[in-house]
Amino acid sequence: MKTYRVSPGKKVSLRDHDASDTSLVEGGKRDGEARLAKLGARLEELQDLLYAGHQHKLLIVLQGMDTAGKDGAIRKVFDSMDPLGIRVASFKVPTEVELDHDFLWRVHQQVPGKGEVVVFNRSHYEDVLVVRVRDLVPKKVWRERYDQINDFEKLLAETGTTIVKFFLHIDRDEQKERLQARLDDPAKRWKFRKGDLDDRKLWDDYQAAYEDVLSRTSTKWAPWYVVPANAKWYRNVVISQVLVDTLEGLGLKYPKAEEDLDSVRVD
Ligand code: ADP
Repeated sequence: MKTYRVSPGKKVSLRDHDASDTSLVEGGKRDGEARLAKLGARLEELQDLLYAGHQHKLLIVLQGMDTAGKDGAIRKVFDSMDPLGIRVASFKVPTEVELDHDFLWRVHQQVPGKGEVVVFNRSHYEDVLVVRVRDLVPKKVWRERYDQINDFEKLLAETGTTIVKFFLHIDRDEQKERLQARLDDPAKRWKFRKGDLDDRKLWDDYQAAYEDVLSRTSTKWAPWYVVPANAKWYRNVVISQVLVDTLEGLGLKYPKAEEDLDSVRVD
């Protein structure tokens, strides 16, 4: 999965990343689904260890254009995890109170505690994406945020948080199909907002803003992965595999039980 990780300092051009890539799963969708089931079982074990150990914290950031599949990935990748130890934080248009504070204020409140997994469904990166593309603050303000974000994430990492960030990469044609599907399917229509079409018109600006995010904020302590996301099953396999590899790298162990439990009998 290293092929999808953005090396710190590397200049990313999204044109060089094939959103339809499925090359790491040779047998196609059927093999992918089988692999996903195995990865899900492993994720369940690893999360149990994380929760029981009550030391490490895991923060997962999901970003992507509208319809890139953030919600779908959350449903499919994390469904094997114990709800006791996982939480999803969704970041919407900031409230008045949130806007009265620095942009990381609302984010810091949602970071994981010990033993916890938190998934950010959108994140502080909106403050250098939509905010930049739609001119919501002066350039001078958003330009400084890349360093501020790197520093913030470093603080989290230095205090026990493992951070993994996924950009779900779809192409423009795929988005067209998915938006159309939302219009056509009565069960999906509620998700369609006319405003999504305005954002679609700004596709190139968003891609450029994402390229800057990926080029400037992929760090040793909080790497970005560009996940090919045209094929939903492949997107889920890549995310799951990265999470399994990351959690296995932590050397998680169950905490020591109380002593002399062998002689204890439950009557
Ligand atoms: P989603 O598209 O994630 O399923 P919504 O349809 O409620 O959920 O969209 C959330 C909206 O909030 C998005 O359009 C996103 O760009 C916007 N948003 C999130 N964070 C910010 C921010 N910091 N400033 C302005 N808009 C934001």
